[in-house]
Amino acid sequence: MTALETAVDTLLEHADDGPVAFDGIRLESDGEETYTLSTPTIERDGLEAAVLRDVLTGLDDLEPYVRNWYHWQVRTGGEGTARRAFLRWCEHAPRSTDETQGAEPGDESLTPPERDAALETGIDREWGQLAITARFLDNDDPNGERVYDCWHVDDADTALEELEVLDEPRDARKIATTDEDGRYRPLKTAPTLRSGWAFTGLSGQELVDTVGFIYPATIANWHREQRGNLDVDHWVDTAARQTGIYDVIDELPREALNWLAEACCVDSQCLRRREWEYDAGDDLEPAGGDGPFPCREPCSLVVAAARKWAILESETEKTYELELTTSEWNQLADLIDAVADGRVDDIREADVNDGANRYRARYLRAKRFDDGELDARERSE
Ligand code: SF4
Repeated sequence: MTALETAVDTLLEHADDGPVAFDGIRLESDGEETYTLSTPTIERDGLEAAVLRDVLTGLDDLEPYVRNWYHWQVRTGGEGTARRAFLRWCEHAPRSTDETQGAEPGDESLTPPERDAALETGIDREWGQLAITARFLDNDDPNGERVYDCWHVDDADTALEELEVLDEPRDARKIATTDEDGRYRPLKTAPTLRSGWAFTGLSGQELVDTVGFIYPATIANWHREQRGNLDVDHWVDTAARQTGIYDVIDELPREALNWLAEACCVDSQCLRRREWEYDAGDDLEPAGGDGPFPCREPCSLVVAAARKWAILESETEKTYELELTTSEWNQLADLIDAVADGRVDDIREADVNDGANRYRARYLRAKRFDDGELDARERSE
């Protein structure tokens, strides 16, 4: 028996238990041992079981619908789960089986025939810094089964032979631990994922596990948001919950939360889209970002940084006097910008025009520091 015949027989069994309506195919028993079959291009009624079977196995136009139904309803299952929703997103399948909703808001969904054609070469999606390709397991003997490849977006044009090829989802945990320079990544959704690796031929579950190791909880939160039940914890709730050394973060001034969000949560620092605000109805000034997956509450990195800022913000402001040339004053801004934008390592030693150049900084320190501190006087009022 061919894979298509197996799928058709299973579909007929399901139709006997009740109407089947999925991704554009509709099959219904009319109770008199005949069936009604429809797709966007085919409408047949009064079909006896044997005739229906011949139609389903013989008409090329129907094959993508049958294979698609079998893949999702029998092989994949998991109706209503984040895993299934994510795998359908990977191939631009509609969010709901009535085909009225795209894979995500603003996204155009593909019909089963369109997906069939696209899966032969692969459908590409991006999830943060991950490039994901959904494709058929076997184009020569297609039965609708999908496999998935996953690698860094920066490696999209790199030959597979030049990458470390992996197939065990747990290996993704190691990839996510350190950045390109071997430094620990405390924030897994920071845009610092290292490249040079590729997972190939993953099953759907293996893909979901791999993504979970690299970007924990992103699929679950994305799915909750799609279903309209993302439970957002705003700053005031999170701060009020803290105990021990983090108890102090609720003392951080309201305006400081704007600076915190700008420092930590914008797209250049984190791929999650910040959905939490200061409080319900009291939004922070920086935009939440454009990432595909939402952030539902201040993370541990932000809470730890907030503790430091809460302590620093408790200090009284003072006025200092110090001597600087105009260029030296501008250089201070250059230095702060370079550190804040993570640009320091990119400034060439020979580029003394850049205020954050290492020699320029060392020169300023040699000239304006006294006993290891900036030579400045506190001005008394
Ligand atoms: S709180 Fe900010 S930095 Fe932390 S995960 Fe959410 S968006 Fe990213």
